Amino acid sequence: MSRAWIGLGSNLDRPRQQLERAFQALDTLPESRLAARSSLYRSAPMGPADQPDYLNAVALLETALEPLELLDRLQAIEQAQGRKRERHWGPRTLDLDLLLYDDLVMDHPRLRLPHPGIGQRDFVLIPLLELAGELEIPGWGRASRLLAKCTSRTARRIG
Ligand code: ADP
Ligand code: MG
Repeated sequence: MSRAWIGLGSNLDRPRQQLERAFQALDTLPESRLAARSSLYRSAPMGPADQPDYLNAVALLETALEPLELLDRLQAIEQAQGRKRERHWGPRTLDLDLLLYDDLVMDHPRLRLPHPGIGQRDFVLIPLLELAGELEIPGWGRASRLLAKCTSRTARRIG
């Protein structure tokens, strides 16, 4: 089994329920088990500010799905929860980002690992650190050190 870290985000249509549904969907993926889930966090939107705050969380999935197969599954969950691709960084019912997959580093047109935004986003780093305080991001170093260098800090734990 591989360890896949997934970032969840929602700022439309009852975000808390969107995240709960997404955790359940992750747990029912084939050859996979939801091994851990973080608390929920509220954060200010990145990019366009004329949209609601986000709820964010992180999940740890133990899975035998290959990375691209897992990405397909994550996108299918986004679609099932009414995701519409409109403007870049615009509001969404559900965003599922594959943050890390074991120690894999890859640069595929559809999948970059580690996720390129991971090092600058407090709403990703804080829930990751909640679940794995010693986490290393391949090629970047310790998640705790990256968080210490984060200039924009808006994420607040909400339970
Ligand atoms: P964003 O999350 O940046 O707001 P999207 O969720 O719309 O944007 O994703 C845009 C594209 O990013 C997807 O089509 C996907 O193929 C690509 N992508 C590249 N690397 C990753 C990754 N690690 N996790 C999720 N999507 C990724
Ligand atoms: Mg995404």
